[in-house]
Amino acid sequence: MASVTFRNVSKVYPGGVTAVSNFNLDIADKEFIVLVGPSGCGKTTTLRMVAGLEEITEGELYIGDRLVNDVAPKDRDIAMVFQNYALYPHMTVYDNMAFGLKLRKVPKAEIDRRVREAARMLDIEHLLNRKPKALSGGQRQRVAVGRAIVREPKVFLMDEPLSNLDAKLRVQMRTELTKLHQRLQTTFIYVTHDQTEAMTMGTRIVVMKDGFIQQVDTPQNLYDYPVNLFVAGFIGSPQMNFINVHLVKEGDDVYAVFEDNKIKVPAGKVRKFKDPSYIGKEVIMGIRPEDLHDEEIFLASAADSTVKAHVDVVELLGSETYLYLTVSGRNLVARVNPRSKARVGDTIKIAFDTNKLHFFDKDTEETIL
Ligand code: ATP
Repeated sequence: MASVTFRNVSKVYPGGVTAVSNFNLDIADKEFIVLVGPSGCGKTTTLRMVAGLEEITEGELYIGDRLVNDVAPKDRDIAMVFQNYALYPHMTVYDNMAFGLKLRKVPKAEIDRRVREAARMLDIEHLLNRKPKALSGGQRQRVAVGRAIVREPKVFLMDEPLSNLDAKLRVQMRTELTKLHQRLQTTFIYVTHDQTEAMTMGTRIVVMKDGFIQQVDTPQNLYDYPVNLFVAGFIGSPQMNFINVHLVKEGDDVYAVFEDNKIKVPAGKVRKFKDPSYIGKEVIMGIRPEDLHDEEIFLASAADSTVKAHVDVVELLGSETYLYLTVSGRNLVARVNPRSKARVGDTIKIAFDTNKLHFFDKDTEETIL
């Protein structure tokens, strides 16, 4: 069993910096879990505590059923892939991959079998006699992963392993690591600050900020049901649009109002407000770029949720187009069809898909719905 369990784990560095606070998480056997968050939020510290490279200040950490707080890194049955790969420059690829096993006195024939099998899996068999300096960045990255695979660990730890690769290779390696996880059937804990990497790779994602877990969920749930403004803004690119609005009741209906714009809030959403006293107050409304539409078909059916927008910038990406808009002094981004007729300088109509509206408390920044 290679589950990993955190019970109220905290890390305070000497000097008093609290890097991780009261971290509780159950990582299931064979799960691919991604820790994501902005720089300094405590991701690397969390991973290093699992590796045994940082002492745990408070709480308990289990790998399987075993409490590992005081277990040395080499006895934890984990393997870590670092951002800088940490390959030995004077050794061949083969020796780099074999080194850890030699130290453990694994028989030579067994080492050879494992190195060749990992090399085959990663398509680096033809590089086994080269030294790291004769490899491309992507190849070095594979060797670093290969060195972890040969250990046959219960848990793989990866700290931003793709950040030194160019954009195209990063996308390619993303898929390869996902496939590798499927093939190895082992627990992966993966750290990144890149939300796209997190969304595409993780079976579950842990969003962190300032040492605290904000939300743990599947990629789709994080996207659709963020628990607060931070998660809503962090997950998704371009990020969710936020607008301060007043919730105003008119007859049986509730509108989100800013300047002279009015967006009708669907009755189903109003009913779900945890606290009806939000009606009449100022809240933060969120809408994702793909839920703003400029097509006639939407505009026609959404007369009570349409605003006038000035087109500042049009970004054509081939498969989609981003419109950077100003609506009553607020900047919004819409992701629209590449056939959109909107041009820079135009004033156009934009319809909100009101079923996709999010609302946040202005003070606590927590989701209201
Ligand atoms: P990044 O994405 O920049 O690597 P991170 O989310 O991995 O960031 P950590 O490296 O875990 O964050 O750092 C969390 C906090 O702990 C930061 O405030 C950092 O400055 C602090 N910190 C990290 N290592 C040490 C250390 N050895 N001594 C003191 N403070 C540290």
